Amino acid sequence: MKVLVTGVSAGIGGAICEQLADRHGTALSLVMCVRRSTELVEELASACRLRDSTVVIVTADLSQPQAPAELVARAVEEFGGLDVIVSNAGIADPAPLESLELEAWDRMFAVTCRASWLLAKAAFPHLCDSRGSFVAISSQSGSHPHRGTGAYSSAKAALTMLCRQLAIEWGRYGIRVNCVSPGMIRTPMTEAVYQDERILRAREAIVPLGTIGQPSDVARLVEFLIDPTNRYVTGQNIGVDGGLSQTLLDRIPGLARRQ
Ligand code: NAD
Repeated sequence: MKVLVTGVSAGIGGAICEQLADRHGTALSLVMCVRRSTELVEELASACRLRDSTVVIVTADLSQPQAPAELVARAVEEFGGLDVIVSNAGIADPAPLESLELEAWDRMFAVTCRASWLLAKAAFPHLCDSRGSFVAISSQSGSHPHRGTGAYSSAKAALTMLCRQLAIEWGRYGIRVNCVSPGMIRTPMTEAVYQDERILRAREAIVPLGTIGQPSDVARLVEFLIDPTNRYVTGQNIGVDGGLSQTLLDRIPGLARRQ
């Protein structure tokens, strides 16, 4: 299986790479796309190679419009084709909408949504050949507004719709497109929040399953979605959130009763 994963870090992207290497071992050829290579990424690659997977690390800035096509071209050059793209790169840069800078809005949409479209677009002929699949990591923020995350939520909503749109346009080519929406996951993006014990406990308390998710929780779902034997699943946006997204009405005090 020839796979390109963006946004590889100690968070969700790294967990996806490890999960796939565990599952596919020698049958996995992996392009790890990183903003910049670090010791941690080298260690991740080594861990995957220990499972006999082939790994190439490629650095790219996905906010640049030419970067997605260059990444896809590199993957195809290395492996002679492409079966799967996991568009996972993302940024969190909270700011109230009234004071958000134009550059920050544009950068959010470029990395979150435009890069996903351009990756899919560049990979289209290769995914046609392989009858492959595309998965984007969106967020519960794409379905539920959250004060302070106006650009992030809007860009994730656009990303979720992009996947639904691609799924219906590309179904005829045998390409499946799905979206994963994590809730609260402990990763480098969110670690600073969880360092505060009070916030950690308060966040756990609002999750029906009572705990914050791990990157591997998201990775397992990605593995399921890209598995070609799950051939009838496309156009879905699936939550990995411990039930958090179902709790809106639970915030209402009192229960109406009229007999
Ligand atoms: P993370 O910060 O560890 O990973 C994000 C990755 O995206 C990093 O490797 C970063 O280098 C990369 N990236 C950012 N800008 C880039 C650019 N311009 N070019 C190339 N790469 C770039 O955080 P994570 O939590 O593992 O996030 C992975 C995905 O999951 C993101 O899309 C995030 O929005 C989403 N997500 C995370 C949570 C959570 O609670 N952690 C919840 C919902 C959704």
